[in-house]
Amino acid sequence: MKPWLERVVRPAVLGMKPYGSARSLGAPVEEEILLDANESPWSGLDGSLNRYPEPKSEKLVAALSSLYACAPENIFLGRGSDEAIDCLLRCFCESVQSTVLTLAPSYGVYDIAAEIQGAGVLKVTLEESEGFEVVVERVVAAAKDDTRLVFLCSPNNPTGGSISVETVRAVCAAFAGRAVVVLDEAYGEFSDTPSLGPEAGTIENLVVLRTLSKAWGLAGLRVGVCIAGPEIVELMDRVRAPYPLARPVLALALEALEKRGEMEQRVTLIRAERERLSALLAGLDLVEIVYASDANFLLLRLRELEVVDAAARLRSEGVVVRAKSPYLRVSVGAQIENDRLIAAFKKVGEAVCAK
Ligand SMILES: *Cc1c(COP(=O)(O)O)cnc(C)c1O
Repeated sequence: MKPWLERVVRPAVLGMKPYGSARSLGAPVEEEILLDANESPWSGLDGSLNRYPEPKSEKLVAALSSLYACAPENIFLGRGSDEAIDCLLRCFCESVQSTVLTLAPSYGVYDIAAEIQGAGVLKVTLEESEGFEVVVERVVAAAKDDTRLVFLCSPNNPTGGSISVETVRAVCAAFAGRAVVVLDEAYGEFSDTPSLGPEAGTIENLVVLRTLSKAWGLAGLRVGVCIAGPEIVELMDRVRAPYPLARPVLALALEALEKRGEMEQRVTLIRAERERLSALLAGLDLVEIVYASDANFLLLRLRELEVVDAAARLRSEGVVVRAKSPYLRVSVGAQIENDRLIAAFKKVGEAVCAK
């Protein structure tokens, strides 16, 4: 293992042997009689569900590595990228002693995963007055010697902007040899900024998160990926649950990945709707600012109404949005859903003005 990685990984994980699950020696061949895993000889439902799944489906890994333009050994498979975030914390952060660095505002799961592991959370505030831009020097200045993970999110949830490839490379260079930079590209398909997934094996301290939950329309399936150097993938595989993806999930993910063209069409639709919705929202009395977004959501600043109150009022009109004080975040839906949002906003606006 690379010396820097040996220094950064938790000693407990470095020293452990991974659990050797029943199928870890490879998929069984047809005529073998399987008496090694205390399974039932009969399936409770159709589809060989009496058998444990492969611990890491070779077929799905192959499909994902082709999709994300990396090698199969660069792929960590998780129940959503949320599981990958959890595994990164478990691999790299000691309770109390380690910290992670996150952007503020950004995705809340980084903080929760750190809290569960007992790691501290350091924040770099993204300034609204600077268009929520990530400034390399500030990220570096906010870190400490005990910082093990630096979470970047591009496009960032909830601010919507992408981080340039140059900025990510500069952050990686600044933390080379001492911390892992986690680039969360959950919304990458909606952005024009190229993915850094193909570089995750090459830039040693970069790992990239991708998911089938957003552009692929499969949030209910729970499939996420961490693209990383093979040594980091192997460490993450040590700390995850023995059979992360269920058999039906593996089959459905493979089926979905064959329909890439359909996914791309949906992304084109959402991007067009994003621009249309953004213009409509900007024309509303209640809306002060609509921030530019490279993702499938829009961040708003309101006037007159506090955002929790606004979200409650929109909900009573049948439209559910997310209050992220002091902002409101709305997902870009189908055209008719977006029109409903605009109509609901207008009703709320009239009620507020009538007071
Ligand atoms: C939605 C989202 C995810 C996706 O998580 P999954 O566990 O893959 O569903 C990851 N990161 C960010 C920033 C998100 O907004």
